Amino acid sequence: MAVTDSNWIHWLERLYDLRRSKVHTHESPHKPVLLLAILDLLDRGVLEDNQVPFNAELDSTFRRFFAVVQTQNDQPTIELPFYFLSGDGFWQVFVAGQSEPLYRKGFAGGAHSAAQLRRQSATGRFEAGLWALMSDPVARHQLREALIARYFPEHHDRLAALSAEARSPGVPEAQEPALPPGRDAAFRRTVLELYDYRCAACGVRVLLKPQMSLVEAAHLIPFSISRNDRPTNGVALCPNHHWAMDRHLIAPCPDSRNRAGLWRINTRRLDDRIEGQRDLMSLAGRPVIPPRETMYLPAPESLRWREEQLAIAD
Ligand SMILES: [Zn+2]
Repeated sequence: MAVTDSNWIHWLERLYDLRRSKVHTHESPHKPVLLLAILDLLDRGVLEDNQVPFNAELDSTFRRFFAVVQTQNDQPTIELPFYFLSGDGFWQVFVAGQSEPLYRKGFAGGAHSAAQLRRQSATGRFEAGLWALMSDPVARHQLREALIARYFPEHHDRLAALSAEARSPGVPEAQEPALPPGRDAAFRRTVLELYDYRCAACGVRVLLKPQMSLVEAAHLIPFSISRNDRPTNGVALCPNHHWAMDRHLIAPCPDSRNRAGLWRINTRRLDDRIEGQRDLMSLAGRPVIPPRETMYLPAPESLRWREEQLAIAD
């Protein structure tokens, strides 16, 4: 699924604009945390159908993510977002024996307690378009990254490390180790500005408001190996291409004519007969979209490292 898909943009905007209760300037983290928890259940295969049960598994997952982001007097009360997410128009809660959703416009019901929801075997359902995105592993990864970037940018590394995707075996160097606060934010901001918030692979640029970019800053040689945070060791990528580069499916490689490098793909692992891999394969031989200042072009040694990894990754 391509990130330029209009369905994707539509849902990204909806998720960027969740209605949240506010105490002074503090916005409640509950709804985005509930969404992250549901994405995690999908990653783990615990959830397969568009029927999200209000159960202990969901609650414990919700609490795990909540513990990272909670501040002030935030309480991990999952029953509130489970019910009130209905107000955002893409989620409905049903209880056993009733065909009408629990939350309806103009219906002065109020939230149910956790005990009530459990007793009534409550389940939540997403609108079909969003569910289709959530069911696709690549799109799901992008949704998670977008939610974190929008609501919890300061907790990005800890939240990403919590996700089942990062915990699953066989995912190489998915996460970098914990870093001093501020270091990562400075790298991200510099690289994104140099690349004008544009993916250096596909050129997608989704910047809804300042600081709210779909595109991410990626290290060429991971910081854990290089300890190199200079912008010449970075590149801006959409979540799709960031994900693929981290797994050595694609790489920006040195090239004699393009100083920013050329994209190459891992032909042992990608197959153009497989739907969804064609987009990645079409990148082969395309120039890396350069940063706006030539002094910040990707460093040759960083491109060479990527090229070597592409050659040895199976
Ligand atoms: Zn891209």
